[in-house]
Amino acid sequence: MNYSDRFKYVREEIEKAKEKSPYHQEVKLVSVTKNHGPEVIQAVLDNGEHCVGESRVQELLQKYEIFENANEKLEYHLIGSLQSNKVKYIADKVELIHSLDRLSLLKEINKQGKKINRRVPCLIQVNISKEETKAGVFVEDLEAFVEKCLEYPNVHVQGLMTIAPHVDDEEYIRKIFRELSNLREKISKKGYNELDMKYLSMGMTNDYTLAIEEGANIVRVGRLLFGQRDYSKRYF
Ligand SMILES: *Cc1c(COP(=O)(O)O)cnc(C)c1O
Repeated sequence: MNYSDRFKYVREEIEKAKEKSPYHQEVKLVSVTKNHGPEVIQAVLDNGEHCVGESRVQELLQKYEIFENANEKLEYHLIGSLQSNKVKYIADKVELIHSLDRLSLLKEINKQGKKINRRVPCLIQVNISKEETKAGVFVEDLEAFVEKCLEYPNVHVQGLMTIAPHVDDEEYIRKIFRELSNLREKISKKGYNELDMKYLSMGMTNDYTLAIEEGANIVRVGRLLFGQRDYSKRYF
C-alpha cells in the first residue's frame, strides 16, 4: 500500500470506530513520524493531515527546521518521555506535550512557558496498568498531581494520555481505556477553571479503534501509516 491508501484506510477505520462510540466525538489523528525521515512528514501534508507526533526532541527540531516553510500548516506533538533539560528547545514549537508525568517536568515547562509568555498545552500521562517500563502518574496519585498543576500557571493541562499494555486481551485493553476516560470525567467534574480537560489521547496502531470506541479524541498512529520503524537507522 502507498501512503495515500494507508491514510485512507486509517481514516475509514476511525470513522467506523466513531460510529460505535457512545460519545460520537471528533477524533484528531496524530501521525507518528518518529524514526522516519522527512518524507513521511511530506506524506502527512500531501494527504491533507497536519498533526505529527515525535518522541525525541532533537529529531523534532531537525524536522522542524526542514519544514520551516510548512510549519504553519503543521502541529507538532511531543509524545515520548521528555527530559526536563530539553523543554526549552520545544516550548514554543509544540502544539501539545502528551507526556507530563512528574513534578520536575511540570516546574520546568512552567519556567520555560513563563519566559515566552505561553501557557504550554500538556496532557498528563497516566500509567494505569502500572507497568514498570512505562512512564506516567499512577492512578492513586493523579488527583494530587492535578492539584499541583494548578499552581503552575504557564502549564495548561488539557487532558490525559495513556499507553495501553502490549497484550492480546482486548477486554483488558478496553478496561484501561475506559478507566482513563472515567478519570478525565471525574477531574472535569471538579470544575477547575485552570484546566481544560478536553483531550483523551489514547490508542496506537494496535488499539486505536478500541480507544476511540472508549472515548479517545486523539489517536497516535505510526506503524500502520508508515511501516515498521528501523531503530538501527537514525535519520538524525
Ligand atoms: C511510537 C509511539 C506511538 C506510535 O506507535 P505505533 O504502534 O507505531 O502506532 C504512539 N504513542 C507513543 C507514546 C509512542 O511512543
